[in-house]
Amino acid sequence: MTNGGGYQQSGRRGKLIVLAGPSGVGKGAIVARLLAALPDLELSISATTRGPRPREDEGRHYHFVDRGKFDEMVEAGGFLEWADIFGERYGTPRKPIDRALAEGRDVLVEIDVQGARQVKAAEPRAFMVFITPPSLQELERRLRTRGSETDQQIRGRLAKASDELAAEPEFDVTVVNDDLEVAAREVVEIVDALRRRTINGGHTRVKERKH
Ligand code: 5GP
Repeated sequence: MTNGGGYQQSGRRGKLIVLAGPSGVGKGAIVARLLAALPDLELSISATTRGPRPREDEGRHYHFVDRGKFDEMVEAGGFLEWADIFGERYGTPRKPIDRALAEGRDVLVEIDVQGARQVKAAEPRAFMVFITPPSLQELERRLRTRGSETDQQIRGRLAKASDELAAEPEFDVTVVNDDLEVAAREVVEIVDALRRRTINGGHTRVKERKH
């Protein structure tokens, strides 16, 4: 779909699409595929106080800021939402999103579940996509394979994940990330359908969870 600059002329407000789910579920890999398939989708770049991982670039994966700068942005009302996650702060800058939506561009926000709730409260028209693992055991396996967290951090992420999984009914649609390519294709279809207005709110589970 290439509506491009036509949005602005038609006065169409962009759609805000929130992709959330537990840490390690594969949101980042799904987002990469979504942006490749729908390149006119605009990705919100969060600010974070955590340091960059190898192969993460400033301004492309995150805006890496120190705690002082982050707190200044909070004070100035610069975040649509922000959260303390595993002892670091993450926030969604408000201005680029407001501008994109006003100009008719659709924006994708990839955040954790508590942040997703805040976005929904601030922007009730946001479309909410929940990414879930086939099981908590599989999530643990993926976190261990990723190798970017210590054992203690992994335990923290799993405890948080089991709480977050209970939030699924608050979302418009759930995609089970069992096979990454299949899940990514499903998310592309959902977002594409949403932009063509063929699906709306009300909860749908795209794929049954495997036990
Ligand atoms: P990571 O440190 O692994 O990149 O991200 C940790 C968690 O923070 C992930 O679940 C990710 O989706 C979430 N996250 C990233 N940016 C934001 C943000 O701006 N706000 C919130 N609430 N969560 C975020």
